[in-house]
Amino acid sequence: MKFSVLVTALLCTIVFSGSQHRPAASTSTQKNSPPCDSKKKKTTPQMVKIQNFKNSWQIQRGCQFPASERVGLVMDIFYKKWKLEFGDLDNKILKALNNLMIEWGDKPKPIVGGAFDVNGKPIEGRARGLTLLPTYIWVWENQYKRIAATALVHELVHAALWAQSGYHGDPDHEGGEFEGWTPKHTKFIREINVLLASLDI
Ligand SMILES: [Zn+2]
Repeated sequence: MKFSVLVTALLCTIVFSGSQHRPAASTSTQKNSPPCDSKKKKTTPQMVKIQNFKNSWQIQRGCQFPASERVGLVMDIFYKKWKLEFGDLDNKILKALNNLMIEWGDKPKPIVGGAFDVNGKPIEGRARGLTLLPTYIWVWENQYKRIAATALVHELVHAALWAQSGYHGDPDHEGGEFEGWTPKHTKFIREINVLLASLDI
């Protein structure tokens, strides 16, 4: 009798400690990822972890836009769709996305050369986004407070092409000087941004 009570008690301990372990583990993961600190001044940039991606962060000013969870969701949608459409040999793109830094800027950046329109013609003026490395993207927040209205998805395509080729992100898009970008990529960006806009993201 005593033995069966002991066994039951022991089983309960195992079951309970088992069921309690998982939530505790996910809570500690969240604790390891500092949330956006809304007390910091809007002029002070802060690094916020992008969830669901191993070592990916964003630099933002203020916590209003864009929320890191939404950026993580966009990256997730981007990768799943990319894999279906273009594939990801040796998981090179997944690795880049898991080590990505996205810097959000409050103003467009003056172009100092090396930028091209979608047809590969050199452009002057100010950039809405730049891919500086396969793992470093700069994006202008702009005024609409929607990721669909920013150049994030466009820059993710540059980063993915760069991770894939190992040399460049095809800066001239559909132009003929660099290889990689095709009309399919231009369509891919449009489709994702339409989907994001329909979800109010
Ligand atoms: Zn571009």
